[in-house]
Formats: sequence, structure tokens, C-alpha cells
Amino acid sequence: MSGLYRDVGVVLRTYKLGESDRIVVIHTQENGKVRAVAKGVRRTKSKFGARLEPMSHVKLLLYRGRQLDIVSQADAVEPLSPMLSSLDRASQGLAALEAVDQLSLEREPNERLYKMLVGVLRTIAAKPSPLNVPAFYWKLLANEGLRPELGHCVRCGDGEPAAQLVAFDLNEGGVLCRSCRSGQSISTDGLDLLRDILGGRLQAALDRDQSPATHEVAALATKALEFQIERRLKAVAMFEEH
Ligand SMILES: [Zn+2]
Repeated sequence: MSGLYRDVGVVLRTYKLGESDRIVVIHTQENGKVRAVAKGVRRTKSKFGARLEPMSHVKLLLYRGRQLDIVSQADAVEPLSPMLSSLDRASQGLAALEAVDQLSLEREPNERLYKMLVGVLRTIAAKPSPLNVPAFYWKLLANEGLRPELGHCVRCGDGEPAAQLVAFDLNEGGVLCRSCRSGQSISTDGLDLLRDILGGRLQAALDRDQSPATHEVAALATKALEFQIERRLKAVAMFEEH
């Protein structure tokens, strides 16, 4: 099916095509991940080149092609400049884009992912809290159906006191008590912070200053996301073998 269609999305990345064109990879609201050619954007007089940089939130008019779509119009939904106002913001924004790029599937609508991405970019633009990206990773995982069990030991079911929950195991999907422990250790502060992030107290978590607990939760978030992406890649590879 070819023809013009409208959508709105966030540019995840771009790469060069030929002398003057660029391919833009966009996570859109209605069409999932879309790859489209932006013609002539690498010429200095391009009318929409600057609107199609990574992290740009744009309204698009696209032409559906056989292999690649073509960007016919692009208008900024909001300015990109706050994201580029500090290195912290820019690197957090790029980390958020990379995670979405890994989870987003071509032409597979995922509006929730679009909304989450727009939300995190706005949060980062407002304040580059050290937990913006880790919290976003945890929310992405929860959105994928992988909300870790944080209330009681995943093996024996023992709950309180929280001080007895001392380990976190990705393979087990949550925390473990002292006698069942496997995976890696988690501090009481780290567990509290993780509960804030996933328990609807995100703002309180984002307002925290850097601490050993924020580092711990950030490192664990990166590991958990990598774990999930690897698992998905394996599942796809298995599916393709059969
Ligand atoms: Zn246990």
C-alpha cells in the first residue's frame, strides 16, 4: 500500500544516504518504527534538515514507499534546544532513544512506547536528574510485562522485614531473602528507591541526589534492560531457525 499518511514521532537516529539524503528512523505514535528518506537534507538550504535530528519530536507527512518511506513534510512539535542545552541532557536523551530503538519494532504500533519516550524527553529537558534514564529503563521493562517482584522473596515468599531481602536476580525476576539469595546483592536503600520508581512515587525518586543507592539502581537498570533485549534477540533467532 502506498500513499500519503500523517503521523507524529520522535527521531531515534539518522544515517547518510548517497550524496545529500539521510535516512531517519522514527518511533511514531501510530505506525511504530518507521524508516524514511529525507531528501536533500544534507544540503545547506534544506528546509527540514534541522527538524530531523535525533530527539526531535515532529509532526510528519510521509509517503509510503515500497521499501523506505519518504518524508514529505516535518514540523517541530516542540523545540529541540532544551535537550541540547547541556551535555547531561543530551547524553540522557540519547540513552533514552537507544533503549526505545532496541525495543521498538518496524511498523508495529506501540503508542505507549511513543508516549513514554515523549514523557522522558520532557522530564530530561526540565531537569537532568541522574535517575531519569534508569527510571525510564525500569518503566520500559514494566511496560514489557517485566515488573520485578520487590515485595517478597521470589523463591520462598518471605517478605518483611525488607532488610532481609538482600539480593536481586534477573533470572528469577525479583528480590531474594538471605537464605535463598542468588544473583547480585541489593542494599535496603537501593530496594527502597526501586520501590519508589516502580510504585508510583517516581517524582520522589527523581528528586533524590546522587548516592550509592542511585548508582546501584542505575547499574541494575542497565543490566536488566540488556538482559531483556538479549532475551528478545534470542527468541527472535529461535523463531527464525524453525
Ligand atoms: Zn527466600
